[in-house]
This record gives sequence, C-alpha cells and structure tokens, in this order.
Amino acid sequence: MGLRRTCMTLLLIVVVAGAPTGCLLGGDEGEPPIYVAITIDTERDYPPYFDTYRGIDEGIPRLTALLDEYGVRATFFVTGMVALHRPDVVRDLALSHEVGCHSLYHNEALYSLSYEEKEERMAAATQFLEALVGAPIVSFRSPYHSGDTDLMHILEDLGYTSEGSARKAGSYPYHPASDDWNVPGDMDILRIPVSNVPSYCYSFFLYDSSFVAAYEYAVAAQETRDITVVVIGLHPWEFCEMETGSEQWDRICGDVTYTMLADLFAYLSNKNVRYVTYAEIVELFS
Ligand SMILES: [Zn+2]
Repeated sequence: MGLRRTCMTLLLIVVVAGAPTGCLLGGDEGEPPIYVAITIDTERDYPPYFDTYRGIDEGIPRLTALLDEYGVRATFFVTGMVALHRPDVVRDLALSHEVGCHSLYHNEALYSLSYEEKEERMAAATQFLEALVGAPIVSFRSPYHSGDTDLMHILEDLGYTSEGSARKAGSYPYHPASDDWNVPGDMDILRIPVSNVPSYCYSFFLYDSSFVAAYEYAVAAQETRDITVVVIGLHPWEFCEMETGSEQWDRICGDVTYTMLADLFAYLSNKNVRYVTYAEIVELFS
C-alpha cells in the first residue's frame, strides 16, 4: 500500500515536471542499455583434476541468492555429468535462469575428438538436458573453450542458436563462416564469446583487477557498436574455498569472486544495463 502510494506520487511529480515517464534503469532517455550476460560454466570442481561437486552443492546456492537479490537472469552452461549427479539442482536453475549445455563430460578438449565422437557427445548431452528441464537447449559453451568448425555444424544441426566459447581475437558476437569458426560468415549459429578485458572475463584473469574495471573496459572497447554486450564467465566452485594446488586459482575461490560480483551488481544497479541470457542475445542480433 505504502509502496503503491509512493509510486503514484513519483509518477505525478514526473508527469507534472514534464520528464519522461519510461521505466528506465538509469542513464539518458533513449540511450540503449548495456546488455550484460552472467554466464556460469556449471561443471564438477576444478576440472579435470577433481571429482567433487562442492561448487554445485555449496557454490550455486550462494550465487543464485545473489542473482535473485539483483533480479539477474543468468545462463548456466551445464555438463551432462552435473545433470546426472545433481538433477534437482539443474531443474531448479531452469525455473529462473537459462540452462545451456557445457558438453557431456569435462575431461578433454573437444577438438581432440573425431567428428563422430563430438556428434555423439553433443547429442547425448542435449537429449539428457532437454529431458531433465523439459525445454529446448539452445546455447552451448565448450569445456576449456575448445571447439572447432565441425562443432559449429554439429551444434547447428542439433538446434543450437548460440555458442559461447571465448576467443583471443576480439569478443564481439558474430555468425561464423561455414569453413572457419573464427571468422565471420553466414552460419545461423551466433558466437557470443566471453568478453575480452583484455584477457578473458573470468575471475581467474582478474584477481589483480575487478569485474567493475572489466565491465568498463569492455564497454569502452565497443564504443562504435550499436549494441553493447558484456559477457562475464564464472564457475560454481569459485564460490567455495578450494585447495587446488594452484595459488592463482586458490586466490579467487571463496569470498573474492563473490564479493567482486556483488560489487559489480551494486555498481550497475543505478546504470542503464539490462541483464540478458544467451537466448535473449540471439534475439537482439536477429
Ligand atoms: Zn568448463
């Protein structure tokens, strides 16, 4: 009741003052929003080294509570093995977020497999995830960002509309060429790489920086674009204290990534941004 009265009062003030009445999240009227995609490579802990699922059991609840707090709809790229071992978690994620595919296993680079092996794994993972969540799976990211041109054709044949592996040369979304996934062409699938800031926008690469600094870098790099897209990559196990044996990884596992992400959401809360899933980015570029 109080909230409704406050809103009506604000609306009245805005109308009387002749100001715009649109429901902008901030920024100048008419300015297109900055589109921000929060993406989570949802796999077992620190692959291929660990066989545990602490990230799924402990990390995901922390992360989804933070996403809920800021009304962020994210894209979770889920391995078939996570879906097998934690089906209830994946079903719950699908209620509030987009569930994409992160291949069947997370053991080796996909380009090291034959065409037939890649095809079998993609088909199995896709069928498994679709049966679990009861909806088409249309977004994909390779384990270790290890795809190739064949994979683009396999994914397109399976009905995927986007592919989210990072690439070194630039990071703006594009449709790949049918004979080289690393150059623009006329395939239907849209590559939406993780932002380049100037390294990949994952916590691991930012431990001396922050997601806020990375966001500003990515936005500035797209100054001449009509559509500005910032893609951030995360892993569930980064939200748990981990002893990986790697000092670099241990530094970003636990509170560091959580705090850095919370700081970003707070920073963006009064800016003209719109959080989007991969399926929604495909709509933007269609
Ligand atoms: Zn991964």
